[in-house]
Amino acid sequence: MSSDLKEGIKAFLTYILTPSTPVFIVGFAIVLFAPIILHFILHGSSPSYTQLPSVLLLGPSNSGKTALLTLLERNAHPNKPSSTSPPSPSATHTSQTPLTISLPVPSSKLRALLFLVDASSLDDNLPATATYLYDVLLALQKRMTQKKKQKPIPVLIAANKLDLFTALPAALVKSQLEGELGRIRRTRSKGLLDSGVGADDEVVGGGGEEGDEWLGEYGSEKFSFKQMMEFDIEVDVLGGNVVGDGPGVEKWWKWIAERV
Ligand code: GDP
Repeated sequence: MSSDLKEGIKAFLTYILTPSTPVFIVGFAIVLFAPIILHFILHGSSPSYTQLPSVLLLGPSNSGKTALLTLLERNAHPNKPSSTSPPSPSATHTSQTPLTISLPVPSSKLRALLFLVDASSLDDNLPATATYLYDVLLALQKRMTQKKKQKPIPVLIAANKLDLFTALPAALVKSQLEGELGRIRRTRSKGLLDSGVGADDEVVGGGGEEGDEWLGEYGSEKFSFKQMMEFDIEVDVLGGNVVGDGPGVEKWWKWIAERV
């Protein structure tokens, strides 16, 4: 029995060590495909490491981004009413309001976008806030129209500082933003028409460009966030507060948890 085994091993070794066409082909295939197979095994075994979902936090300055980040960093349980454990945001982070919008995060990892708005000072900051939001939504819309089969990125407009009595309720934040986005849309399309792209010249090019800058349902009179569903972009407006007594961040947290 053991001598049979020895003979078998010897015959096998003799066979694979003797140059022949089948041995050469199998050897070549192993050299060629082993690294590729190994790559897929290793890559596939750690999807959570390479595919961590991200949520992009945006908003005008002073809207509460740093405060919210601090809250999340400190791992305070978001479901807990903020009144029982008021987080004191660190003043060390500085934030900037970017003037141009690009979405540098690999969109395969980006699962949701949080746009923070200070509901207590929206009346004063409405045009600036809406312009920023217009560019963000337009970037998402272009992303959906320019490349097919993109995974849609939902947007949460978080109406912050609802603990302050001057704060507008979420429904009003929504309608004010929709109104202002509509105004911006009209102004931008008018600007294009007035800028010499007349009906006579470059009709095709001009029309196309105008369409590119138009947010939501093309040609519609009023803008509403619902129109973004035409591009599979879900936009919700929910109220909350990071600091002070109020509804807290529970609704936002739930919204995020349902989408990542
Ligand atoms: P950022 O510029 O968007 O990062 O805004 P910050 O996080 O620095 O917040 C600006 C100011 O608003 C800070 O003084 C915060 O303490 C304050 N703030 C943030 N969230 C709230 C909130 O929910 N309620 C109140 N009352 N103040 C807030």
